[in-house]
Amino acid sequence: MKVLKFGGTSVGSVASIKNVKTICCSGPEKKLLVLSAMSGVTNQLVSITESIKSGDVAGVAKVIDVLETKHFEVTEKLIQDGLLQYETKQEISAILAELETITKLEYNEEGYSRVVTAGERMLTCIFSKYLKSCGVENHLLDARDFMQVNNLENPDTDLVNENFKIKVSGLSDTDIYITQGFVRRDENNKISTLKRGGSDYTATILGAALNAEEVQIWTDIDGFHNNDPRYVEHTHPIAELSFEEAAELAYFGAKILHPQTVSPVIHKNIPVYLKNTFTPHLPGTRISGQSTGKGLKAISAKDGITAIKIKSNRMLMAHGFLRKIFEVFDRHQTAIDMITTSEIAISLTIDDNRNLDKIIEEIEDYGEIIVERDHSIICLVGEAVIEDKKASRIFELLHDTSIRMISYGGSNNNISLLVGTSNKINVLQKLHQKVFVETPVGEFV
Ligand code: ASP
Ligand code: MG
Repeated sequence: MKVLKFGGTSVGSVASIKNVKTICCSGPEKKLLVLSAMSGVTNQLVSITESIKSGDVAGVAKVIDVLETKHFEVTEKLIQDGLLQYETKQEISAILAELETITKLEYNEEGYSRVVTAGERMLTCIFSKYLKSCGVENHLLDARDFMQVNNLENPDTDLVNENFKIKVSGLSDTDIYITQGFVRRDENNKISTLKRGGSDYTATILGAALNAEEVQIWTDIDGFHNNDPRYVEHTHPIAELSFEEAAELAYFGAKILHPQTVSPVIHKNIPVYLKNTFTPHLPGTRISGQSTGKGLKAISAKDGITAIKIKSNRMLMAHGFLRKIFEVFDRHQTAIDMITTSEIAISLTIDDNRNLDKIIEEIEDYGEIIVERDHSIICLVGEAVIEDKKASRIFELLHDTSIRMISYGGSNNNISLLVGTSNKINVLQKLHQKVFVETPVGEFV
């Protein structure tokens, strides 16, 4: 069994959904397809939840109308068979009608999750019926019946395996199963999500649960690039990455993969392929347990970082001081990404500002606090990157670029720089020139 996940723009239009069909119908092996919502749909569903909160009933109805038109149009273009087309529209209408009832009930977290995961339900319904209308047998499985993920950080894949077996037992034999990404049941058996972008995670949880041969994540870019192609020219896809390298890149901003994606498949050593739906013949990136050679592989950047400096005139590094500071962040469930210290100051960064005010209020007792928003972490990733001499060229940037913090040696596989977001593109381009153009990839000095 292979698990194939398609999301966003690769299921964003009639033409791309047809590509997905071609990919699914090639090769003899059994496949489980994980689909996310059509591009833009989850954002529209989130806007519905916002309208509900602000009591904007007309706003809710308007977006539901837009969603119906969008999904009906795709259905009409993809499914020629009259009966199948009619059934598909009925199901879409039922899903949207359910949204309307949720909006009228008391709004809670489960209500939110039901609303925002409706895009996956509509698209899987369309795709399953579309394959049927082309004579391709398949079973559509409701992920809410088996994606029991009580602990988001550490999913119990054996439990998902058992649930899945029960779900498919008694069904006729088929080569294609289809299910929804993003949705899960939580520890209270309530409908919840795997967080935004979580369909990749659905795919690897299922890959591990079913001991799949491999997991394929299909997007609109041909794998992880060695730098962000939106800002830097002449980037290229990286053929092979280790699980650790991929996890670092995903966490530090490479939008192509949800940060938690690789964790479920690591201990089962199931490879993950990143492929492009629009150029399926290209190899993309293979992520696996094998070492892929030492040295710098890629640069990526993560925005939305807040830097906090705590300056004290008392003995800052006195015994117990850091513990007290960290305890404040811990109490407010806010992870710290980067840290640097000096005798009288400590600077650290967070990417989750939700509890910032409360944190500041508590640490204010320890000294003068300076908060700077709108920063980005730029990181250089690769196995043993800190031993790679060309990575040392980052220090040349200090001549003419303002770098707020550098973290070197915290992990062997990552060097991080903190810069103002307005400066990010400039630093990405300069770094690219220095480490990839002037010192070519593969040259481990
Ligand atoms: N549709 C969901 C989202 O937009 C899940 C996903 O795309 O992976 O966040
Ligand atoms: Mg996605």
